[in-house]
Amino acid sequence: MPESRGVKILMYHWISGDPGQRLRQWGLTPDQFRSQMRSLHENGYRTIPLGEVVEVARGTRPLPQRAVSLTFDDGYRDFMQEVAPVLEEYGFSATIFLVADRVGESNTWDARHGDPPRPLLSWKEAADLAARGIELGSHSRTHRPLPSIPQLDLREEILGSKQILEDRLGIRVSHFSYPHGLFDDRCLALLREAGYESACADIRGGNGEGTDPFQLRRSLITCHETQWSFAFKLRTGFGMREWAASSLAALAGQTAPEPLRGMS
Ligand SMILES: [Zn+2]
Repeated sequence: MPESRGVKILMYHWISGDPGQRLRQWGLTPDQFRSQMRSLHENGYRTIPLGEVVEVARGTRPLPQRAVSLTFDDGYRDFMQEVAPVLEEYGFSATIFLVADRVGESNTWDARHGDPPRPLLSWKEAADLAARGIELGSHSRTHRPLPSIPQLDLREEILGSKQILEDRLGIRVSHFSYPHGLFDDRCLALLREAGYESACADIRGGNGEGTDPFQLRRSLITCHETQWSFAFKLRTGFGMREWAASSLAALAGQTAPEPLRGMS
């Protein structure tokens, strides 16, 4: 069966009254976001930092009940207005993954899709959020797809981004999120060399003992979320269609005739 036990990490992008056109599914309205946070609160959930998820994955911390980790990729400026006050209201924490070379600019990597650019947090805003208890991680320097770039550039994206963020913000950066969810073996080696503790991928499911900390599983929260689909993602780490596809694949694997197993 799909790996649905363990801590769920929710993946958000922008929270805005203008969720966009072609990229619409990546954003939520402030009302949608607020009602999800209310539902977490009403169902007795607390938020835990990624460092605790890593301890669970390494087996040094027991699996917590009703705990979830919140992550925001790209570092949109709307976090100041639409997210931070709601998190503070419920006593929740979160991690924002910043694109080091684009801080204070906009999501230029999405320009080809044609939606208007979205402003990103400035250095001052990021520092302000860090002082308020928001954790900041790296989402590379330029948001390029990492598996397709040369080794020297890759070093800059992984080691360089950590250095820039730590120098500019005076904080320790321990967590990484792969741009576009894409990574390869070179990324894994460089993340370890750089001293990161974890990296968030775009793989669905929960994070329990034995999960690779450099391939943490996350649930993408989209504009299409209903109360029911949100509850399903919290429980399984999958969307309903993703869950069905993953279950069928697992079932097919399990029922494969004996001689076929172990051939790959
Ligand atoms: Zn991103």
